[in-house]
Amino acid sequence: MIEFKNVEKYYGKFHALKNINLAIEDGEVVVIIGPSGSGKSTMLRTINGLETITSGELLINGTNILSKETKLTEIRKNIGMVFQHFNLYPNKTVMENITLAPLKVLKQSESEANAMAERLLKRVGMWDKKDSYPSMLSGGQQQRVAIARGLAMKPDVLLFDEPTSALDPEMIGDVLDVMKKLAKEGMSMIVVTHEMGFAREVADRIIFMAEGEVLEDSRDVKGFFAN
Ligand code: ADP
Ligand code: ADP
Repeated sequence: MIEFKNVEKYYGKFHALKNINLAIEDGEVVVIIGPSGSGKSTMLRTINGLETITSGELLINGTNILSKETKLTEIRKNIGMVFQHFNLYPNKTVMENITLAPLKVLKQSESEANAMAERLLKRVGMWDKKDSYPSMLSGGQQQRVAIARGLAMKPDVLLFDEPTSALDPEMIGDVLDVMKKLAKEGMSMIVVTHEMGFAREVADRIIFMAEGEVLEDSRDVKGFFAN
């Protein structure tokens, strides 16, 4: 459960998030839409601590992520993130990209981590590329590996920041198919995207942002798109 209470975010004098109040439940698939520059990415990035908020409260499973006792590494264990530009480790193989954090952070054994990576790579259709380096893969393939990596820490929620915006059109479907499968399996997801078809088909809830504000927050997704 993720709660924003009266959250404000400034970049210098620029007011990027304005009085955000939201509670996102476990198991929800939330799609955030809105024009470029409206604060969507900023909102996502505050959730896993890539950006700090200026004021208000941000609670993850009841814990204030601003408090000094809260370790960011603990929060990031539970919150996976998939970026627009994949951000895979270029000098590591697909397999190593997946197993790195579980080995280091979760202290899994080699065989445990490898078994988990095999399961995840099969799930995203990338097992046959396990020994490839990211530069040998298409954007769509890299993004599917990035999704597997995001799942490797067994997070409570997976955040997606425009996961298909940097892809050639013919790659987008494969990535969206993986995301749809995850959503059907009950994964909690918060997705910033311009893919309205995906939003209509998969979202439990649509949040529409403009100029740093949440202008609409609807669980009537069909109704939202009918208007
Ligand atoms: P969106 O994801 O909706 O496109 P962003 O959250 O990326 O919007 O950005 C919201 C606004 O904040 C934009 O005007 C952007 O230029 C500004 N912004 C984002 N990151 C920074 C930063 N690190 N420093 C200054 N301004 C920023
Ligand atoms: P874009 O939205 O342009 O694709 P990204 O969201 O991919 O940009 O990355 C934004 C910044 O966040 C980059 O400078 C990147 O180095 C950093 N970053 C990427 N992944 C992580 C992570 N897991 N933890 C901390 N910082 C990260």
